[in-house]
Amino acid sequence: MKKIIITGVTGQDGSFMADFLLKNTEHTIIAGARRLSVINHKNIEHLKNNPRFKLIDLDITDAQNVEEVIRTEQPDYFINFAANSFVGNSWTMPVNHMNTNCMAVLYQLEAIRKFAPNCRYYNAGSSEEFGDVAYVPQDELHPLRPRSPYGASKAAARHLVKVYRDSYNLFAIQGWLFNHEGTRRGEEFVTRKITKAVARIKNAIDTSALFDVLELGNLESKRDWSDAEDFVEGVWLMLNHETPKEYVLSSNETHTIREFVELAFEHAGLNGAWKNNTGISEDEQFVVNDQIVMKINPKFYRPAEVELLWGDSTKARKELNWSPKTDFQGLVKKMIDADLKDVILERG
Ligand code: GDP
Repeated sequence: MKKIIITGVTGQDGSFMADFLLKNTEHTIIAGARRLSVINHKNIEHLKNNPRFKLIDLDITDAQNVEEVIRTEQPDYFINFAANSFVGNSWTMPVNHMNTNCMAVLYQLEAIRKFAPNCRYYNAGSSEEFGDVAYVPQDELHPLRPRSPYGASKAAARHLVKVYRDSYNLFAIQGWLFNHEGTRRGEEFVTRKITKAVARIKNAIDTSALFDVLELGNLESKRDWSDAEDFVEGVWLMLNHETPKEYVLSSNETHTIREFVELAFEHAGLNGAWKNNTGISEDEQFVVNDQIVMKINPKFYRPAEVELLWGDSTKARKELNWSPKTDFQGLVKKMIDADLKDVILERG
């Protein structure tokens, strides 16, 4: 029985990883969460009585705190899913992104080097590190060309992980995970923002109530979306590979935000159509039974956009024997079904 520290355990990936490990291994989870005055433990509430799940205070931006936890717990694995993961706000708080996504990684690597050199370490990497696309689909050899402070912070962390792996012979890796979504995705991300709004609109239409129109930014950017539950399994396989190797995890498909919108409304039983009276992209609307349900708000445009993310996870599929179970259509359906259920529960 081994000890696994997971940071960011209240978030999407951390909580799915805890679920996966408790279900599929005998190991103990040391779950690190930052103490907040307003507690948000919704994603781990169901684990709190599990004797193999121990919740501890851990602030990854506090080097001393991190060192103390690693020294006393002596983990066999350390999985760092804590991050400021929202690309959109990295232009308004770049220092926070650098501290949380990069300096924090350095504190962890230093503490592992000093106090737990046999601990296997994983840091969450991102397709945003590839940024400005040099070729598609993007594999492990694609150059790092970040387009946002977020992408730059993750790319810098990647270099540190490699330096520590090479210099101190640590099992330290950072996979490249393309966008991964699901029923626990934060609402600041476009997929969950869409599925939540669609469920709300569907419920309002069914009950003849008023609703807020869904407002989005760039509909034409393309993303390679997968199910986060498939990815935590891939991360675990990477961590247990005989050698410390870094892999891309992706669906190997790419879709526009526009396609996601269409499919989400369709799964909710709302058949709509695109409408644009001027031909200007900012006037694009999605209309259901003559009612506008989605429109553009330019405030959601980004100062610099990653237009296309499309991964190639051939290596992980071959060498780790990993494969995703849920495809794009399945993912949209899963998220819509869950959000529709929630709205109905809220309605009571
Ligand atoms: P990211 O790939 O990590 O930045 O994931 P997001 O879900 O935040 O954004 C995915 C894409 O959706 C980006 O190209 C955004 O510009 C685009 N997008 C369009 N409208 C919105 C919106 O209202 N919110 C967000 N978050 N993204 C939007």
